[in-house]
Amino acid sequence: MPKVLLTDGIQPAGLDILAQRSDIVIEYCRDRTSAEELINRIVDADAILVGTMPITQRSIDAARVLKVVSRRGVGYDNIDLAALRRRKIPLTIVGTANSSTVAEHAFGFMLALARKTIAYDRATRAGNWRFRESLVAMDLLGKTMLLIGFGRIGRAVAARAAAFEMRVVAYDPLVPESVFEEFRVGAIKDLMSGLATCDFLSVHVPLTPGTTGMIGRKELAAMKSTAYIISTARGGVIDEEALLNALQTGLIQGAGLDVFREEPLPADHPLLGLENVIFSPHSASLTRECAQRMDAVAARNCLDAIDGKLDPAMIVPNEG
Ligand code: NAD
Repeated sequence: MPKVLLTDGIQPAGLDILAQRSDIVIEYCRDRTSAEELINRIVDADAILVGTMPITQRSIDAARVLKVVSRRGVGYDNIDLAALRRRKIPLTIVGTANSSTVAEHAFGFMLALARKTIAYDRATRAGNWRFRESLVAMDLLGKTMLLIGFGRIGRAVAARAAAFEMRVVAYDPLVPESVFEEFRVGAIKDLMSGLATCDFLSVHVPLTPGTTGMIGRKELAAMKSTAYIISTARGGVIDEEALLNALQTGLIQGAGLDVFREEPLPADHPLLGLENVIFSPHSASLTRECAQRMDAVAARNCLDAIDGKLDPAMIVPNEG
C-alpha cells in the first residue's frame, strides 16, 4: 500500500483527508530532529508531508518510490530543491491557503508599531493615564507602504493597506505590470528610491541566493528615520546585523519581526533587548484556521500525487 510519511505531525483537517483512504498507510517520524530516522522511513514512502524539518539530498537520495514532497506552507528553503529536481520528484506548496493569515500578521505588526500598542498597554497598567497625551501614536492613513515581493502574500497585504487608505507601492521585477494595475499598486523599478520614500517596508520574498541580505546596511541607510520594517518572510532576507545597527542608532524607527536567521531566536540575542521591536516566534501563518487549511491542502497534494493527478498550480515551478 502507498505510504504517506508525516515528518512534523499533522492537524485534524489534514489527517481526516488521509484517514478516509483505506488504501494508504500513514506513518510518523517520531523524532523530528533525527535525520537518520527520516532516512530509514523515507526509503519506501510514496509521499512525505513536511513542515520545517530539513529535507536534504541524503534523504531524497534514499527514497525509492517517492512521488511528492508536500510542504505544509509556501516557503521551502528547508528542502533541497535541486536534489528533488535531479530525481524529478515534484515539490508542492499550499498556494493561497496561508496568504491572508500572514498578511493579517504583517498588518497587525504595522498597526501595533504605528499605534504603539505595547507602550500604551504598559502605561495603562502602570497607572500612567497621562501617556494618552504623549502623541507617540500615528495614523496609517496617507502613509506609504513599500512591499518587497508582490506575490500571494504581498498582494493580500496590499488589499488590506488600500482599505486603510494607505499609498501602496511594490518592488517585484518578476511580476507583470498588469498585476500592479489590477491591484492599483505602484510598481517600483528602483528599490533604493522606494526605500527612501516609504513609511513602512514589508518584506514578502522567498529566501533564495538572490534575496539573501537584499536589505542590508546600504538599503537601511536609504530609509527615513521615521520608517518601520516588517518581516514575515524569512530570516536572512534582511541582514540581521545591519538591522540591529539601524534600530540601535535610529536609522529607522522600529520593526516587527516574525522570522530570524537562527530559529528559535537565541535568548541572548541583542535584538531582544530593543524596545522598538515587536516579535513573534515564526507564527505568522499559525492561526487555528490557517493550520487546518494548510494541512488539508498538503494532505490532498500527497494523495493527488499518489493518484497521479497532482494540481500543477500546487507544484513549485522549475524556475522557483
Ligand atoms: P510568492 O511566491 O507568491 O511571492 C513571492 C514573490 O517574491 C514573487 O512574486 C516573486 O516574484 C518575488 N521575488 C522573488 N525574488 C525577488 C527579488 N529579488 N526582488 C523582488 N521580488 C522578488 O510567495 P508568497 O506566498 O507571497 O510567500 C512569500 C514568502 O513568505 C515565502 O517564500 C515564505 O518564505 C514566507 N512566508 C512566511 C510565513 C511565516 O510564517 N512567517 C508564512 C508563509 C510564507
